Amino acid sequence: MNGSSFHLEKGSLRLLAAALEKLDEGFAFLPPSGESPATVQEIENVLNEVAERLHDNFPYFHPLYAGQMLKPPHPVARLAYALALWINPNNHALDGGRASSAMEKEAVAQIAGMFGWPKHLGHLTSGGTMANLEALWVAGELRPGAKVVASEQAHYTHRRVSGVLKLPFESIPCDRAGRMDVDALRRRLEQGGVGTVVATIGTTAMGAVDPLPPLLDLRERYGFRLHADAAYGGYFGLVDSLREESRQTYDRMSEVDSIVIDPHKHGLQPYGCGCVLFRDPAVGRFYKHDSPYTYFTSQELHLGELSLECSRPGAGAVALWATQKLLPLVKGGEFAGMLTATRAAALALYERLCADRRFIAASPPELDIVVWAPRAGRVSEASELARRIFAEAALRNLHLALAELPARFFDLAAAGVERDRETITCLRSVLMKPEHREWLDRIWVILDAAARAAFAEHTTKSV
Ligand SMILES: *Cc1c(COP(=O)(O)O)cnc(C)c1O
Repeated sequence: MNGSSFHLEKGSLRLLAAALEKLDEGFAFLPPSGESPATVQEIENVLNEVAERLHDNFPYFHPLYAGQMLKPPHPVARLAYALALWINPNNHALDGGRASSAMEKEAVAQIAGMFGWPKHLGHLTSGGTMANLEALWVAGELRPGAKVVASEQAHYTHRRVSGVLKLPFESIPCDRAGRMDVDALRRRLEQGGVGTVVATIGTTAMGAVDPLPPLLDLRERYGFRLHADAAYGGYFGLVDSLREESRQTYDRMSEVDSIVIDPHKHGLQPYGCGCVLFRDPAVGRFYKHDSPYTYFTSQELHLGELSLECSRPGAGAVALWATQKLLPLVKGGEFAGMLTATRAAALALYERLCADRRFIAASPPELDIVVWAPRAGRVSEASELARRIFAEAALRNLHLALAELPARFFDLAAAGVERDRETITCLRSVLMKPEHREWLDRIWVILDAAARAAFAEHTTKSV
């Protein structure tokens, strides 16, 4: 903030101290109750030990961490969350957190607004898993015993959660871009028994976007419930550099029946922040319960009466509200600009990979995730090389990820690679920080060095 170099931003801490004073002032009418803890020294000792322990992590905050879906929250989210902890509201019920419940409703309504829903039913959850569980639970209540289908690249949580809900589940094959194969879905629908189709808007492995326009056409004909798992990709509708096909999908998000989005993935939030939205608020009837012990000071429906989870962190809602206040979810805004930068980084990496004979890229990124394989004689060798490059890059402080994908996602014939295995271990990079765009040259230098080392070792070994 003052131009001095740092890794972990600390300047904003003084804002927290000031805001805490302001928060305290609001309770000045009460007789004093607090004292500074007598055990400050012991707390300090423990905290220092914690800092030591936390060194045992990959540096998720740094642009050279370009592996999995991980990044720290925005400073405003971190500070607002911390500030709320002095109150520690529980958004189970209005009595547990009036202000934070109101802020949750406002923040969730803004997310719904981003999807074009002026009216909705929705709330925050502990994450995408719980949010999808609620969406599939409601789907199951509306279509008892009918099948849930999702693409074979959908998050594994759908199969598992369907099991929890005792709903039958089936996978639908994908095309080479990792998107649900619409013809395969149509053939499956012809056989009957499908109650719910899950469209993944940004798959976890590749960021592939299942095509909504043809799925919506199929819904007309077959009458299934359409759920969009946009846990990762939900915010990308704000970006103006999408491929035409992805654009068409985002433009029709308002027509699905339910949506899941994870503010703790691309919404700059600390973990513990997912969101489920229903287009028809009437599904609230399934949540009905008669709690003998909760909160009847208000006539309004409590958020806790519309959520499967009971206690939920009010601080999470406060952090989300603060973030969206600073960075509204609008096209052309600063937040949209951040996503545009992550996508630009992914496109730039993809271009370099395509121009380099040592690599075979999968289909072009739809969001900000890039997947590629080293070129080798056989798929098994390419997989081995991918693991080596991954390790060599990590030695040089560049953290990538590995993914196991169907080998047919790559144009092996054109690359002259023999398919001796059905799946390929490939390299994957989630470029989810805006800084990745500026850092791409440096990332490439390291990737190049890591690849040289891995290929050199490979050649020596195979001679
Ligand atoms: C991350 C993710 C999930 C699971 O969400 P959690 O927040 O990790 O529980 C589900 N679906 C998709 C597409 C995801 O990317």
